[in-house]
Amino acid sequence: MRARRIGALAFALMLTLGPQVAAQERDAYEREREEMVRLIEAYGVRDSATRAAMRAVPRHEFVPRESVGRAYGDYPLPIGYGQTISQPYIVAFMTEILEATSGMKILEVGTGSGYQAAVLGEIGCEVFTVEIFEALATSARQRLERLGYGNVTVRHADGHYGWVEEAPFDAVIVTAAAGHIPPALVEQLRPGGRMVIPVGSVYGVQNLILVEKHSEEDVRTRNLLPVRFVPMLQGLR
Ligand code: SAH
Repeated sequence: MRARRIGALAFALMLTLGPQVAAQERDAYEREREEMVRLIEAYGVRDSATRAAMRAVPRHEFVPRESVGRAYGDYPLPIGYGQTISQPYIVAFMTEILEATSGMKILEVGTGSGYQAAVLGEIGCEVFTVEIFEALATSARQRLERLGYGNVTVRHADGHYGWVEEAPFDAVIVTAAAGHIPPALVEQLRPGGRMVIPVGSVYGVQNLILVEKHSEEDVRTRNLLPVRFVPMLQGLR
């Protein structure tokens, strides 16, 4: 009799405490994420979809274990193979510039950790992302799958050629520095689409450029911001 009552009590306790315990676990990085988003907003990112996505994506899952404590700082971090996960402000700025909204089909060149792709996936975009290092492509694919980003597809390929089977795209985002705008990427952008890409000296400072493809004949570019990205490489690794 007593055992049954204790059992019932434990069950009732579990019901009341269970969700709170789970919420606490989910909250472990929530305050840091909130701080990160506040900073991004202070820097001028107004788009609410971008901010909501960055509030939701667990950035600490995208950095190496030894960097977890610094995952929400506003700087890039190394992810191996000489590559980096981009600074949160730059991720937010590029997402806002793309005018990413739910249902958009987006090509990303430079998967890296998969963080930028996850932010776009969180918004509800259908993301096709290519990465030149097989090891990075594989780990990003596994991570995105584990975190439930079923709308992000990763491919090990050289992004200079885009992803012709999935073209045209509503938007293209390049997260490695290019010496010039790869023509295939402009071709694979639908008329009315936008591309954001860092262009310039690959080992110095580049310009973040917005490409607006009004029609096949009318493609305009605009300088947005000086940035520093890792170089866009040639040849699979
Ligand atoms: N978007 C990433 C950060 C990218 S760093 C993130 O959110 O974590 C740039 C990435 O571009 C690196 O992973 C690098 O290996 C990759 N890269 C470089 N040249 C490339 C190319 N030609 N095609 C595809 N990926 C490339």
